[in-house]
Amino acid sequence: MDRVFNFSAGPCTLPLEVLEEAKSDLLNYKGCGMSVMEMSHRSQMFQDIIDAAEADLRDLMQIPDNYTVLFLQGGGTLQFSMVPVNLLRNTRKADYILTGTWAKKACEEARKFGDIRVAASTEEERFTSVPKLNAGDFRSDADYVYITTNNTIYGTRYNYVPDTGGIVLAADQSSNFLSEVYNVEDFGLIYAGAQKNVGPAGVTIVIIRNDLIGYAPENTPLYLDYKIHAEKGSMYNTPPCFSIYMAGLTFQWLKRNGGIAAIEERNVRKAARLYETIDNSQLFSCPVQAEDRSRMNAVFTTGNDELNAKFVAEANEKGLVNLKGHRSVGGMRASIFNAMPEEGVDSLIHFMKEFERTNQ
Ligand code: PMP
Repeated sequence: MDRVFNFSAGPCTLPLEVLEEAKSDLLNYKGCGMSVMEMSHRSQMFQDIIDAAEADLRDLMQIPDNYTVLFLQGGGTLQFSMVPVNLLRNTRKADYILTGTWAKKACEEARKFGDIRVAASTEEERFTSVPKLNAGDFRSDADYVYITTNNTIYGTRYNYVPDTGGIVLAADQSSNFLSEVYNVEDFGLIYAGAQKNVGPAGVTIVIIRNDLIGYAPENTPLYLDYKIHAEKGSMYNTPPCFSIYMAGLTFQWLKRNGGIAAIEERNVRKAARLYETIDNSQLFSCPVQAEDRSRMNAVFTTGNDELNAKFVAEANEKGLVNLKGHRSVGGMRASIFNAMPEEGVDSLIHFMKEFERTNQ
């Protein structure tokens, strides 16, 4: 079977070039006689892999020297705990903005550790928009403000970075990491699980300003303290070696293709074409407010469950797979991460028009 266009929300499609490179390295990495999966994480060869991955990521995101890059495990979910454990360091207050399921989960977890306030939520409108907030909306003595820059399930994205008036901003960028240009200095901490724009599941990247490291309480379980990982270059314990290696290949792929600004341009184009198709259609609609629509996850529906199911099934037969929306939202969701080629989006658009013509 040929490769399909995979619209999964993660794990998801990876750049074909990256997969091919991994394939050619698989049995014998650079002539060392073994695969990266079999290599000691204490070997020079693996040290070179992780160092190159970090250097390429720093280069891509223009990460300043006063930020540390960590390659951790535990997914985005462990960051729901690590962020409050480490960043609730003075007043133990934090303000969360709820824009979807993942922000809510992060907020619930943080409540175990401090005085957590919901600064704003769009839940009443079923998370179909992102609130516009500024410094006056946050407690001025909060230790941090928390946002989810792209909401994978509801298909929304912050089209701005909130001005917190100097309060540390912590961002879950799991589903739009490396898809658009950000100024790292606008954030105290950024994290992202790998399994969308970076590589296979297994590694979570944390970018943290150095002055925020070292405040976890005494009784913090070792693994949950950013300090230990920072001191040991992400190798306090065995890191997810193969996922880090794959992340490194993706960073090189991005660099070869013009970096983040270039991929952002392509992402804007892909998303615009897809939303234009939805907006011009008599059959499909997108519930999300136009200015807050995600460039990574486009949700849409026919408004009819049976027809939605038919769409997903017929698309599947055409090699356009994983278009079913998240169970909490229903309808369809097309995840069009960095690695989804423009031809994939064009094929989907072609199929949507065909489906509309034959199902009116
Ligand atoms: N944050 C966001 C924005 C997500 O989309 C997800 C999962 N898709 C998570 C956090 C949770 O990540 P994980 O499954 O890696 O724990």
